Amino acid sequence: MNKRIIVTGGAGFIGSNLVDRLLSEGNEATVLDNLSAGRMEFLEHHTENPDFKFIKVDLLEPEKLKKAVKGADLIFHLAANPDVRLGAENTGIYLQQNIIATYNVLEAMRVNGLSNIAFTSTSTVYGEASLIPTPENYGPLIPISLYGASKLSCEALITSYCHTFDMKSWIFRFANIVGPRGTHGIIVDFINKLRNNPDSLEVLGDGKQRKSYLHVSDCVDAILFAMEKSSDMANIFNIGSEDTISATGIGEIIVEEMGLENVEFKYTGGSRGWRGDVPVMMLSIDKIGQLGWKPSYDSEKSVRDAARSLLGK
Ligand code: NAD
Repeated sequence: MNKRIIVTGGAGFIGSNLVDRLLSEGNEATVLDNLSAGRMEFLEHHTENPDFKFIKVDLLEPEKLKKAVKGADLIFHLAANPDVRLGAENTGIYLQQNIIATYNVLEAMRVNGLSNIAFTSTSTVYGEASLIPTPENYGPLIPISLYGASKLSCEALITSYCHTFDMKSWIFRFANIVGPRGTHGIIVDFINKLRNNPDSLEVLGDGKQRKSYLHVSDCVDAILFAMEKSSDMANIFNIGSEDTISATGIGEIIVEEMGLENVEFKYTGGSRGWRGDVPVMMLSIDKIGQLGWKPSYDSEKSVRDAARSLLGK
């Protein structure tokens, strides 16, 4: 590639894995992150690399942001609040961290004449889809979580900026992404719960929720692959694995990988883990598949590998 690339949220889980790959391919990568959830330790192996730069900035500081993005060929916009469960407790958080932050990124691009943005969206924009696996052209999109609503709003802002100001966008709707440096989500939750109490595991819902999980190495691979093969004004791709695993199945893998026995699974009940959760999620990946990409991990292998790396195995 060899481009000047900005990665917002580059100190986070997916962002830091993406930065590793961008630098290894000879690009210059500048991370913009406020370190609210990201960690400098995820990037410290790059600090001596002249192609790497870190700028501590909050995307809610528009003037600082406008200065920081100057001259970039491409912006990967990952910074967001990614915790899908917060909506019922805090109705404003995604409005600020996702929608306003994305608007600020787009404005910073517009005033600097920048043209290319890649955005990390989510399966939750589909809401409770009646078609599974769910393809990119499924509709109408009726999100049922405030997180999903915010990401769909970001998508709409991005595509309309692209049309209005001659920009180009790649929008990736992720399934659940897991792997090294994961700091949130079901695997991290289960490991923490079992470290606190190795005799019992609380599972949200009835444990039968089935979802698709993808390893972060496959995710980064798919992003870069799709960007190389597509050049429309708005290029939208689902990224996930081709199967699902249940919450109970994930619990069993974590218990096994932690070497525990006789753990009692306790279910909070109901078919959803939380308000806004869906009992089944699996994305169709035919669109990126037709371009020639295939995941190398299935859901179970993604979860197992993620658990091992988070346990330091
Ligand atoms: P993460 O929390 O590890 O990374 C987000 C990063 O953004 C963090 O480093 C955080 O410090 C930074 N950040 C947050 N608000 C900021 C702000 N206002 N200004 C500057 N930096 C800010 O999350 P992740 O799992 O790596 O997710 C990355 C992206 O992928 C997010 O947009 C998320 O919504 C999306 N996504 C993730 C998953 C998943 O399974 N992990 C699934 C679907 C979509």
